[in-house]
Amino acid sequence: MNDLKEIKNNSKIILQKKKNSFHTPMIKQYLVFKKKYPNMFLFYQMGDFYELFFDDAIQSSYLLNIKLTKRGYSSINTIPMSGIPCCNVNYYISKLVKLGKSIVICNQIGNKSLQKGLMKRKIVKVITPGTVTDEDFLSENIDNLLAAVYEHKNNFGYATLDLSSGRFYVYEYNTKDALLAGIQSTDPQELLYPENFLHINLIKHRKNLKKCSDSDFEMNLAKKLLNLHFGKKNLSCFGISDNSIVLPAAGCLFIYVKSMHYNHFDHIRSIKMLNNQDYIYMNSTTIKNLELVKNLSGGNSNTLLSVLDRTVTKMGSRMLKRWLYFPIRNRLTIKNRQKIIFVLQKHYYPLQQLLIHIGDLERIVSRLSLRTALPNDWLSLRISLRIIPKIHNLLSDISEKNLNILLSYIGLFPDLILILERSIAEFPSICIREGNVIADKYNLKLDELRQLKKSAKNILINIENQERVKLGISNLKISFNSLIGYYVQISNKYLEFIPSHYVKKQTLKHFTRFTFSELQQFQETFLTADFRAIELETVLYEELFDIIFPYLKELQIAAIYLSELDVLANLSERSIQLNYVCPLITEKNEIILEKSRHPVIEEISQISFIANDVFLSQKKNVMIITGPNMGGKSTYMRQIALIVILSSIGSFVPAKKAKIGIFDKIFTRIGSADNLFRGQSTFMVEMIELSSILNHATDHSLVLIDEIGRGTSNCDGLALAWSCVEYLVTQINSITLFSTHYVELTLLIHKFKTIQNMFFSILKKNDDIVFLYTIQPGISKNSHSLSVAKMSGLPSDVIIRAKKKLKELNSIKLDIQKNNILINFIISLEPENISPRKALDYIYFLKSII
Ligand code: ADP
Repeated sequence: MNDLKEIKNNSKIILQKKKNSFHTPMIKQYLVFKKKYPNMFLFYQMGDFYELFFDDAIQSSYLLNIKLTKRGYSSINTIPMSGIPCCNVNYYISKLVKLGKSIVICNQIGNKSLQKGLMKRKIVKVITPGTVTDEDFLSENIDNLLAAVYEHKNNFGYATLDLSSGRFYVYEYNTKDALLAGIQSTDPQELLYPENFLHINLIKHRKNLKKCSDSDFEMNLAKKLLNLHFGKKNLSCFGISDNSIVLPAAGCLFIYVKSMHYNHFDHIRSIKMLNNQDYIYMNSTTIKNLELVKNLSGGNSNTLLSVLDRTVTKMGSRMLKRWLYFPIRNRLTIKNRQKIIFVLQKHYYPLQQLLIHIGDLERIVSRLSLRTALPNDWLSLRISLRIIPKIHNLLSDISEKNLNILLSYIGLFPDLILILERSIAEFPSICIREGNVIADKYNLKLDELRQLKKSAKNILINIENQERVKLGISNLKISFNSLIGYYVQISNKYLEFIPSHYVKKQTLKHFTRFTFSELQQFQETFLTADFRAIELETVLYEELFDIIFPYLKELQIAAIYLSELDVLANLSERSIQLNYVCPLITEKNEIILEKSRHPVIEEISQISFIANDVFLSQKKNVMIITGPNMGGKSTYMRQIALIVILSSIGSFVPAKKAKIGIFDKIFTRIGSADNLFRGQSTFMVEMIELSSILNHATDHSLVLIDEIGRGTSNCDGLALAWSCVEYLVTQINSITLFSTHYVELTLLIHKFKTIQNMFFSILKKNDDIVFLYTIQPGISKNSHSLSVAKMSGLPSDVIIRAKKKLKELNSIKLDIQKNNILINFIISLEPENISPRKALDYIYFLKSII
């Protein structure tokens, strides 16, 4: 019985194999390519179309809304097929890339008319979201990063590579929180991780995750690859030790991009270790809460970047974003930037008018290095280089050392301009296959072939006229199509006039198409001239990549400093337009601001913004802020953090006067739910954020805590808030802003000299309140929550009842002043043994027995 089954199965397999072997040579060729890239869409060129087969066809027809057809058979089933016109291919690729898909381009090679049988084909490009470099697939204002993460004993190595600029950065993290912050602030398009990665939960929400084999993260392999690429024995010159945890991640990136059919990575000139000592550390919650680049809903509006970014080049805009994510801690660099911003205040307008013509040099240089640059890139490079001397002229008279140093990195490239002027046509076509990219007079042979093509037109007109006269058919026309080449089309009613040397090529319903020896001769000369001209242009175009190669390093440097010039001109423009002041950067831990404003709210608010002072020094470094809801507490705290970030990128700040120290970390505990912690209660989220602050803040950090302990009972919440402030004051000593509705916390001023109580006041008219948004020393006596609630539109019955209830509650409650007196009294009785916390417990005890 079993034997019979086996025979049946075997015969099925044999039949299947036979049927598979019936695949046409073309499908067989397709399957060989597809086998290498099973998880990518294979675009297989067939003449003027790219065809997709099997599953790729079904999926692409759905994703791209294109027609699903079929072709031939595979086994007993028809082969699904969909097609995309070659001329529109970029449109469809960019759609797929945006959906996070990867694509393999398989092109026909050689001239179809000169090949017999199956066309030769080759994989020419692999496109994945994190490795795209073509202008069409990249977002102009966003760095396109490929990243990899590696873990060993709870330490993390993280590496990012921007193939479109050559920027290669590595990071070491020793906590999950820090890794998360790193991933959030770099926001990679594609993230690689080892198959045995233990912390998949940390990254599983991210788009375009790629699991790679553990062997791709092998330390020795990574070292070999990277040392070879940078031509070094080890990477210590880049600050990377020989067994650094970043190496496996960086190595994996290299292996991945090499598999993308890129062979030239000369634009990746260095690998940079981003040290925590160089940048202000902000965890993912802080980056999100402060709405630096994205708002809380993930959009781009009403963010610090949206107010700040008036850059005129795409690379400048991307650089500004990087600056905001990584504010620096180097006082000298900050001051140098300030000096340039200051001198550019008189020149930013004409400078921006010049910079606006500078193309995306950073990405163009990368494409030149990868040898994927399109004619437009060369054109844009030429236009940009013609502008650079004008920039030098404009700024040469300014005697500001730092600006002069910056300009010295932006070369003038006179030789290269000449090369580009001689070699690239004034208006080149979009792609090299269309010809007319290389300029006339650049190559003698090309000029000859082009001349031949031009004269061919006249020859064809002559042949056409001559045949019209000979045959006496005045509307005789010579045309061309790719199937039968050149032909004379004769209406069937004139067939009797056709001479015997005419050879029939095609019969249509009303017409017949012919050729004759002279026309055939013309076809051979013209078609080969055209083909030879394009072939020669392609060779010359390829040679240009070699010619430009020695200039690439200098061009890459120029691109970086042009971006920086754009960012600084932009910050200069903003400082004038938004009335910002240059902060004095000090070594102390302090934030002293006169009439400071919130940079975003002041721009979007309907009412004029009320400026406020800030005084946070080493001696008075903790501020407990009370006041009604909507009174301005959060705005005030965020504005301080944003001003610190602005000053740390070198920018001027929204204030009348500013004195700001250098901070190592900024932490925020603001708002409630956070997506990353989905599934945990608001209280738990609060506690996780709080523990991150208390475990990692230092005496050089800035800590903002906007309410804690609200998701639990009053006593528990107050107790937590109390002990948290105590811990911050005694153990951490950071600059801390703590806003709260627990007025009891203000009692801590009696215990710690470093604390100051501040409050936002209101005006009360009858039952209504007016917010003054002015901060002043002292304590808010009332949270006015019922008045604020009334403004929200709650039913009046609810408000009336609440007021009654409040009266009842107040009648059994000791007021805050009595608390204050009691606490002082209790402390004065036993100064050594009793803390305000304990004193407060007594008060609650007293309250409960009254
Ligand atoms: P709180 O944190 O005390 O509840 P917010 O800081 O959220 O209050 O402020 C509520 C709103 O009040 C803000 O969204 C803003 O529109 C406005 N606001 C706050 N501070 C100011 C100010 N200094 N000047 C003008 N409007 C302000």
